[in-house]
Amino acid sequence: MTSCIFCKIAEGSLPSEKIYEDESVVAFMDVMPVTKGHVLIIPKAHRENIYEMTAEEAANLFQVVPKIANILKEEFAPAGMNLLQNNGAPAGQAVFHFHLHLIPRYDETDGFQ
Ligand code: 5GP
Ligand code: ZN
Repeated sequence: MTSCIFCKIAEGSLPSEKIYEDESVVAFMDVMPVTKGHVLIIPKAHRENIYEMTAEEAANLFQVVPKIANILKEEFAPAGMNLLQNNGAPAGQAVFHFHLHLIPRYDETDGFQ
């Protein structure tokens, strides 16, 4: 049994607010959002970081990014959006299952630097 929390979210054994799912990718709301509408997109397969992703896996994941970004744009009407992806603890990675952050931005005081 996996101890990876994002594997558990992908398989549904750990609850999350999923907003998109297909055969290889899941998108869900970050449990501690840095701004309203903060979403994480993950591969269903366990990949620790960008170095473990194949080009095809990366392409599959990024293929859904415009769709998710537009869902967030519709729902939260942000003024902007950051895409962020951390690899390794020094880079800020805390969960060691690849994830891409989509962070809607509202204004300079929205809480995210
Ligand atoms: P990192 O710093 O690794 O790039 O980002 C990890 C992200 O995962 C953080 O934004 C954190 O709030 C989020 N996170 C950690 N544990 C959980 C969880 O159990 N559920 C959800 N939905 N998000 C989580
Ligand atoms: Zn995992």
